[in-house]
Amino acid sequence: MDFQKLAELYQELEKTSSGNKMREILSIFLKKVPEEDIAVISYLTLGQIASEYEGVVLGIAEKSALKAVAKASGIDEAKVKKTMQETGDAGLTAEKLLQKKPQTLVPMGKLTVKELFEKLHKITRTTGAGSQEEKINILVNLLQKSSPKGAKYIIRIALGTLRMGAGDMTVLDALAIAYTGDKKNKEQLERAYNICPDVGIIAETLAKKGLKGIEKIDVHVGRPIKMMLAQRVDSLEKVHEKIPGKLAVEAKYDGERMQVHKTKDGITIFSRRMENITEQYPDVLKYLQEHVSGKDYVIEGEIVAIDKDGKPLHFQILMQRKRKTDIEEYVKKVPVQLKLFDLLYYNGKSFLHESYEKRTEQLAKIVTKGKHITLADRVVTDDLGQVDQFFQKMLKEKQEGIMIKAMNSEYQAGTRGWNWIKWKKEYATEMTDTFDLVIVGAFYGKGKRSGTYGALLCACYNDHNDTFETITKLGTGLTDEILAELPKKLQKYQVGHKPARVVVSEIKPEVWFEPTVVVEVLAAEITKSPSHALGLALRFPRFMKLRDDKKAEQATTSKEIQQMYRKSGK
Ligand code: AMP
Repeated sequence: MDFQKLAELYQELEKTSSGNKMREILSIFLKKVPEEDIAVISYLTLGQIASEYEGVVLGIAEKSALKAVAKASGIDEAKVKKTMQETGDAGLTAEKLLQKKPQTLVPMGKLTVKELFEKLHKITRTTGAGSQEEKINILVNLLQKSSPKGAKYIIRIALGTLRMGAGDMTVLDALAIAYTGDKKNKEQLERAYNICPDVGIIAETLAKKGLKGIEKIDVHVGRPIKMMLAQRVDSLEKVHEKIPGKLAVEAKYDGERMQVHKTKDGITIFSRRMENITEQYPDVLKYLQEHVSGKDYVIEGEIVAIDKDGKPLHFQILMQRKRKTDIEEYVKKVPVQLKLFDLLYYNGKSFLHESYEKRTEQLAKIVTKGKHITLADRVVTDDLGQVDQFFQKMLKEKQEGIMIKAMNSEYQAGTRGWNWIKWKKEYATEMTDTFDLVIVGAFYGKGKRSGTYGALLCACYNDHNDTFETITKLGTGLTDEILAELPKKLQKYQVGHKPARVVVSEIKPEVWFEPTVVVEVLAAEITKSPSHALGLALRFPRFMKLRDDKKAEQATTSKEIQQMYRKSGK
């Protein structure tokens, strides 16, 4: 397919500010895409050139992109820089300047989607001496083969700033409509996507083999599985309504979730966002090699920072391990312990449909415990008194709370169901609760906060409509350190208009962001409010921490907050 067609689609998508309209436009377009291009177009529309878990990085800096624009347009670099300052966007700069390119510079040939994709991958493989120059040259060639409009999107894709407003769920919706004629079938696509979170594979399987092919998608060791999540209750007594009989009660550690895949080629560690974080944890890799047996497996656990005596330390300390440099130094500075709690695959067999009891039995068989790797602390009981005792013990040990799991439940990939229930100390202390919310906008700061933001506008995720609904303005609890960090962190996601999937009500921000950054917010209460899209608002919201381990779609859902509001009896 001609890349120009895709550029025209992007231009249309860019103009829409409604999620539904975006899905409609996308599905009409996808219907016309040839089978062999469907995977590529699905990735590109998400602003990616591979599935997220593959961790493919283009490594093009804005400066290099502008150099490429200068070369492709025949306009000197100073002029390009000036246009960049005027437009504030490298994509627009490319579009504007390439319209002016002299006819002598127009090469023959048209750019296809396939060629663009292959060349972008070539850029990722270009390393070593002289690689920057070579990357720029590949980009120049792509820009010269495309129209000025196409150039705008090529530059944005190369810089990772495409921001079409579409998320994975938007693409799955559009695929369901395009290929099955019925939006309802998205559920089936979503089920497959939970086991195989790769939009390209889902799109291609659907296009080539239909829903029958989708049904057959199974665990593939080395490719992450979306993690199972927990519901919350407002009183411990409610647990038995949801899980009758025996309860497996585990400590809820305040660390980072890990999903470990072992194949004959080695071990890969994925984060909750399904990023490959193996390189950050060479120590954990060694513990896994020494303490876990099996030809191939997929296991899960929580990694926590520990002190010299093996006692757990705060989440923020562990976050120092999230780095690309000085890794060995931090292995020593911040030692960790892996608490394993699940097994999803073992020696050629998927355990997803086995019970929790069977999965953890198998896990116990393959792990030999050590100081840095062990099974999660656990009691099995049907007595809520004992559950509370264990909870109090965990709080004393400085854990976050407990996880209560149904013994006979299967692993529900990507699902926040009632087979796992979390019980944290915030729930036990009166009205307070924490929420993971997505920053969708901000208000400029005044006085002490001038130069940064005075408050953020935050939203929860409506997983039914695939939208982000505002629920609170957030100003309290933002420390000077965070305030200094925020503009840098958010700038990448700033857009000049309301992103299509964001829904607001009376309160609208001064700056918009593509929903990406998640924050944890503590609040005293949920109240009715016309000011926010959800129709509810948080009272006394307080910023707790950045949740870099969560993606926007992993935020607290609108449904959860509505349930909490109803339960509070208002
Ligand atoms: P939340 O982020 O509050 O929805 O809680 C779910 C998270 O708790 C998981 O993603 C894990 O990172 C973490 N966690 C800590 N201990 C456990 C455990 N024993 N079982 C499952 N998840 C756990």
